[in-house]
Amino acid sequence: MSKNIVVAIDGYSSCGKSTLAKALARKLHFIYVDSGAMYRAVTLYFLRNNINLDDHLQIEQALKNIHLNFHARDYETHIILNDEEVSEEIRQMPVSEKVSAVSALHEVRVEMVKQQQRMGKSSNIVMDGRDIGTAVFPHAQLKIFMTADPKIRAERRYKELLPKNPDITLEEVFENLAHRDYQDTTRKESPLVRADDAIVLDNTKLTPDQQLQFVLDKISPFLEQSH
Ligand code: C5P
Repeated sequence: MSKNIVVAIDGYSSCGKSTLAKALARKLHFIYVDSGAMYRAVTLYFLRNNINLDDHLQIEQALKNIHLNFHARDYETHIILNDEEVSEEIRQMPVSEKVSAVSALHEVRVEMVKQQQRMGKSSNIVMDGRDIGTAVFPHAQLKIFMTADPKIRAERRYKELLPKNPDITLEEVFENLAHRDYQDTTRKESPLVRADDAIVLDNTKLTPDQQLQFVLDKISPFLEQSH
């Protein structure tokens, strides 16, 4: 049997990683996994249960009580936290404000990486996140490192959030992205860095179709080999 193909897409917050990852998975009929949604769901659980981030025993116990699943009915992220779909709630500001602190915790990373590696064992998969090409799948056939102008990123995310959060401001969104980028790139464990063999994709001026074409061109040699 031929080996399954893994595409790892990493990069800063709100760079359009998930838009590209979803489009690619849909086009190639690969499984799409939004690893950020997993860290967000854990954060939601920690917030709801007042987990103290300095208490390692409490964190370990909480992780045992968290069961995450993805519904794969389309190429959108439907994440289920202990039988409840939380896909909407994990995108809101209370989670965005805490998620980088929660995902810097050793226990949390060990558990999430274990689950992510399991998902990529036997299926063709596109996974996006911060450490997919460096820690989760260091042997991925294709690694993309995405970046874009921070102002453009904040505007994109602001437009996404505004319909359901009419009081939100562009400054608040910009600050949150800057803060998360800082925490994600400077944390001790699996910080966000470009893997040596990752291809940089700056999408500040690229349309979604142009980005998809860029990645399809890079992946095509691997698709031919796998047939
Ligand atoms: O991708 P998204 O912006 O939803 O990720 C939310 C947060 O989850 C990131 O800011 C980062 O702190 C964390 N994360 C991570 N490792 C990943 C994916 C996300 O630490 N692979």
